[in-house]
Amino acid sequence: MLDIGNSWLDIETSTLPSLPALPLFPHNDLSPHMKHLYIHVPFCSRRCIYCDFSIAVRREIPARRYVATIVREYEHRKESGEWDADALETLYMGGGTPSLLPAESITELVGFFLEHEGASSTDVEVTLEANPENVTGANARAWADAGVNRVSLGAQSFDPAILRWMHRTHAPEHTVTAVRSLRDAGIESLSLDLIVALPAQLERDISRDLSQALELEPQHISIYGLTVEPRTALARWVRRGKTIPASDEAYARDYLVAHDLLIRAGYEHYEVSNYALEGRRSKHNCAYWDDSRYAGLGPSAHGFDGEERYWNVAPWAQYERMVLESGDATEGRERLTRNQALLERVYLGLRGHGGLELDEVARFDARLIADAEERGWAEAKSGRWHLTALGWLRMDEIVTALTTSPEGG
Ligand code: SF4
Repeated sequence: MLDIGNSWLDIETSTLPSLPALPLFPHNDLSPHMKHLYIHVPFCSRRCIYCDFSIAVRREIPARRYVATIVREYEHRKESGEWDADALETLYMGGGTPSLLPAESITELVGFFLEHEGASSTDVEVTLEANPENVTGANARAWADAGVNRVSLGAQSFDPAILRWMHRTHAPEHTVTAVRSLRDAGIESLSLDLIVALPAQLERDISRDLSQALELEPQHISIYGLTVEPRTALARWVRRGKTIPASDEAYARDYLVAHDLLIRAGYEHYEVSNYALEGRRSKHNCAYWDDSRYAGLGPSAHGFDGEERYWNVAPWAQYERMVLESGDATEGRERLTRNQALLERVYLGLRGHGGLELDEVARFDARLIADAEERGWAEAKSGRWHLTALGWLRMDEIVTALTTSPEGG
């Protein structure tokens, strides 16, 4: 990240001393019902160079076994009283590459959850993550018939050389035809993912990529910075000197160029990485950022009941074996400590458009608040304290400084 300058760097960040007395777990949603369900589909046809997710690379997707295992885990969690999900509002199939599942498996899964939760796809936001090359006309129609009403496309770039460099399995024209097929099938709510901050050697033109994305008139765009994760092909290339990652300055430049283009095109910046036309925010992702309850099914999926988090084992084979044996593939559970809860609350509040209430912010070190505002990193507006686009570039530092300042107690 960029140099954040004087007083912020003077803060001792290695410990979490006395913290402001904020209420813990102040959920917007106080209902005992779980309203948001995530289903993780771990399969991909090959691994992208930057990806460190726990995926299962498969030529043939074990679709029947996958669906049966997800249903078994769901039944186990319901029987054990873990959640009461009769008020489902969002269903999100993410991955991995969910669009690699045959259309009939997607139909079966979506139908199963809508039926068992007494919901209809007209009331529930049903999102499918898709790789552009999987979006045929037939698939798009089948997904729409199944109840999918929102598709998030992993476009990443419209430059063919960059997509090849990333080892993506699609070409730019796949994204264009995917958007057309989805619209023809009646799926109007579309999101495009784009990656920014690529190595300078690729000579990526972020404005050109953004312009091509905007020509497709998606309702939602997500912008992610490329990071070099250990144990990826990209990390090996960096170690060998074959690739030099983008500098912090280049990252900031890409992010701010993209931000400016999207704001001028009428998109609302409602979360660090996410932009939406009016009324087109991702309800599912907003639930995470609002600290709502959610359930997760599938390898590496997480759930949160308002007080406790659980997460499943990540490798597909281990997940399948555990679920078939006992119905349960939980790897761990944790209740947040007071410090963790505060950090999470501040982090979630500041990464979203909602910001923090001014009386909450008043409990932090006033010098830091004033300094952030003077630098144009944050502003007080309509009774709340928000980060600006410049502030979002420094979010980790800002949250750490606020929550570790001795004067914050
Ligand atoms: S498609 Fe997505 S999940 Fe699969 S390897 Fe590429 S980045 Fe990772």
